[in-house]
Amino acid sequence: MRTISPNNFHKKIVLLLGLVFILHLNTGMAQVQPTLGGSSRLMNTALSEMEKGEYDKANGLFRQIIDSNLPIPSEMPYYFAETLFELQQFDNSANFLNKYLEINGFKGDNYEAAKRLEQRLENPLNEIKVCQLCDRRGYRYQQCFTCEGTKQIEQECNYCKAKGVIGCSRCVGSGMVTKRNVFNIVEYFECDRCSGKGRLECPTCNGSKKEVSACRTCQGSGRLQSDHLCDHEPEKEIQHLSQLFHKLKSHGNP
Ligand SMILES: [Zn+2]
Ligand SMILES: [Zn+2]
Ligand SMILES: [Zn+2]
Ligand SMILES: [Zn+2]
Repeated sequence: MRTISPNNFHKKIVLLLGLVFILHLNTGMAQVQPTLGGSSRLMNTALSEMEKGEYDKANGLFRQIIDSNLPIPSEMPYYFAETLFELQQFDNSANFLNKYLEINGFKGDNYEAAKRLEQRLENPLNEIKVCQLCDRRGYRYQQCFTCEGTKQIEQECNYCKAKGVIGCSRCVGSGMVTKRNVFNIVEYFECDRCSGKGRLECPTCNGSKKEVSACRTCQGSGRLQSDHLCDHEPEKEIQHLSQLFHKLKSHGNP
């Protein structure tokens, strides 16, 4: 007589459940196919562009995935980080790499590679940190076009609205003040604060109608952000000019 051992029975159940699960998963996949298929197709194209060394194109495709609001394949942040590294967008690369490790932990298919990328990022990120010529994302500062780097700019005086004078507050602009004498009779006096003029020189601009204040374009920093990646080297032109200046100076002094 054949008996089914409990062990075998369990195995069969598990197998059956497994099949049901796979079938269910398949129909599930079929339902989300249009969206999931969209982003994984984009990612595959991006990966082949990466293989060809076309990181700009890969970058564009990854951004399409993000902009499309399609579900993001779990390995995508790693490949995007790799692409951004190649494009020297180190700060952004680190952002996506951290996101990848945060989401997948050590279970990600590219965990080892991600850890290696983390190490490769260390140097370039440090270079950005110590460089004074670029912002913390590694983009070169450019001189502010409004103040030309001087940080301040002469503007119309805001306090007096460029009139150069303000109304005297003691006499409310009349130039006269009143006092009652001992006989309770009102007497008029010339306002001693404004000498009877009713107005005072603007204390902010001293009557010049102009004030020098922090440049509003650059918030007084003298520089603006740009979209040029920094090479952490002083500008060649400036180097060249200072050399030229040096030459002229040495020629001028025989
Ligand atoms: Zn400025
Ligand atoms: Zn007055
Ligand atoms: Zn003023
Ligand atoms: Zn720099």
